[in-house]
Amino acid sequence: HISIAGLTKRFGTNTVLNDINLNLTPGERVAIIGPSGTGKSTLLRCLNFLDRPDAARITIGDLSVDAASATRTEILALRRRTGFVFQNYALFANKTARQNITEGLVTVRGWSRAKADARADEVLASIGLTDKADSYPAALSGGQQQRIGIGRAMALDGDLLLFDEPTSALDPEWVGEVLDLIRQIADGRQTMLIVTHEMQFAREIADRVVFMEGGRIVEQGPPAQIFDAPEDERTRAFLRRVT
Ligand code: ATP
Ligand code: MG
Repeated sequence: HISIAGLTKRFGTNTVLNDINLNLTPGERVAIIGPSGTGKSTLLRCLNFLDRPDAARITIGDLSVDAASATRTEILALRRRTGFVFQNYALFANKTARQNITEGLVTVRGWSRAKADARADEVLASIGLTDKADSYPAALSGGQQQRIGIGRAMALDGDLLLFDEPTSALDPEWVGEVLDLIRQIADGRQTMLIVTHEMQFAREIADRVVFMEGGRIVEQGPPAQIFDAPEDERTRAFLRRVT
């Protein structure tokens, strides 16, 4: 069980997230949609304290962290339970594909080099990039780089995978292979929270779609409800613009 309770985040006087409450059941796939600047990325970043929430209780299984009193140990524990896939891959340019995957296992998890290498090779096989293990990011296509970004998050084997617009920086020709990989992970019943602007993909992959605007959850429900019969005028206006 994963829960986000009373999440509020301000940048200066700008309240970017306003009392967000969201629960996920194990294996649930939730897509977050909404206009630019509405706080979607900030929401994901607050979940593992890449951005520090002003208020929130984040619970992942038996770990519950309150923003008001979060210790460094608790924040690291939260990060061990979440994998994050960034829009711009955020790979280490000076590390090979395999090293990008092992880095977190060694530094965050404290695994031995040998154990991390074995796990990386397992992940490289499952994302179809065994032959690129020793390549540097600059020698990989955008799609391959993002698949490594996803593999790195998968390797941590956390309770929750967070995706922040994983295909929006990609040339159109690479979008398909990345969406296919995310579908493959979703089939494994990995709990995931996906911010996406790919409405068709959200409809297909998500158990639940959350529409956010202005730092609040406006409306949420099964894809068929949100896309075919949205109740709030703001949701309707957004969908008219993007579909
Ligand atoms: P997009 O769809 O364009 O990615 P988003 O919904 O992900 O948008 P966020 O990136 O979460 O939106 O930004 C929400 C608001 O917070 C914006 O007004 C943004 O300018 C502001 N913001 C985000 N990060 C910071 C920061 N580090 N410092 C100040 N303001 C920030
Ligand atoms: Mg964003």
